[in-house]
Amino acid sequence: MRGDPEALPAALLAWHARAGRHDLPWQHERSAYRVWVSEIMLQQTQVATVVPYYQRFMERFPDVHALAAAPLDEVLHLWAGLGYYARARNLQRAAQQICADHDGRFPTDFAAVAALPGIGRSTAGAILALSRGERYAILDGNVRRVLSRYFAVEGNPADRGTLARLWRLADECTPAREVARYTQAIMDLGAGVCTRRQPRCGDCPLAPGCLARSQGRQHELPAPRGARARPSRQTCMLIALAGQSVLLRRRPPSGIWGGLWCLPQFETAEAARQFLEESFALSTPLTPLEEVQHAFTHFDLRIAPLLAQLPATASARARASDLPGAAGGAVMDATECVWYNTRAPARLGLPAPVMALLRRFGGSAPEGD
Ligand code: SF4
Repeated sequence: MRGDPEALPAALLAWHARAGRHDLPWQHERSAYRVWVSEIMLQQTQVATVVPYYQRFMERFPDVHALAAAPLDEVLHLWAGLGYYARARNLQRAAQQICADHDGRFPTDFAAVAALPGIGRSTAGAILALSRGERYAILDGNVRRVLSRYFAVEGNPADRGTLARLWRLADECTPAREVARYTQAIMDLGAGVCTRRQPRCGDCPLAPGCLARSQGRQHELPAPRGARARPSRQTCMLIALAGQSVLLRRRPPSGIWGGLWCLPQFETAEAARQFLEESFALSTPLTPLEEVQHAFTHFDLRIAPLLAQLPATASARARASDLPGAAGGAVMDATECVWYNTRAPARLGLPAPVMALLRRFGGSAPEGD
């Protein structure tokens, strides 16, 4: 029978035993903490990218206490390159909350898990299912796609009614036994077989019962969100180089790249020039470099880098704390500036495009390790 909630878990479990991945670092020594960190890293990021980040993160922060007590800069440094930095900030806030409210032990109650920063219904279900084998359904993006196709669910999964139906189906499909393996299997199937653009129905254990496949509608389901024009924003980034040091300022704690260290940003090249004049009493020529594009979830950022070669003594003459405002005239908290030595970089969190710019134009190659 097609679209059968009872046939789905059996087919998935058999497939996973034969073809699933069992060697991922978070599949060993499975604790709620280790599963939680992996689930957060895997949101928006592919397994192959996550593995080395996860291993470095676990080496440095092997438990909730280590993560809670670490300087935020170090957490962001180990996250740099993974993107979506709110995830890292929320991880640390949640670790601190666990220490304060749960005596440092990861909670086992669903409501308490779902109340932690950065954890929604699906992630809470995944943590408890994967680490404790408790029967909770999950519905991340991959699972939504699998269920939408298998049951030929019409409607945009972001709509309330469609989402409620998908949660009901997710719950019906979740077996009473082997929940951890089932949860891993359906996530793996969505990530590796029932992919968004090119579902491999020929290799799929759900093919005999899949309604989308039998109707030839794999590419129509789930229904896409309405097309929206993607906005584009523009910024100038100043690469103020004094010898091997480059000036960085810290971003505000929330919002885009919150808490990371960034090249000073200006709305115009003229504002950057004025900043240099006020800071160093130098009328330094600015060299425009090739524009860089960076894609965020909801918009594209066009970065116009401007290179200023200052005398090597400039960083000694002007301490970061002596510098006036930046960011298009807005006053900058001067304590939030550093001279960053690109030959011996401090362990700070830098956004990926800033790291890339420093690699190309900063005189050395900072690593995002
Ligand atoms: S048969 Fe194809 S569309 Fe259906 S679940 Fe499998 S991969 Fe996805």
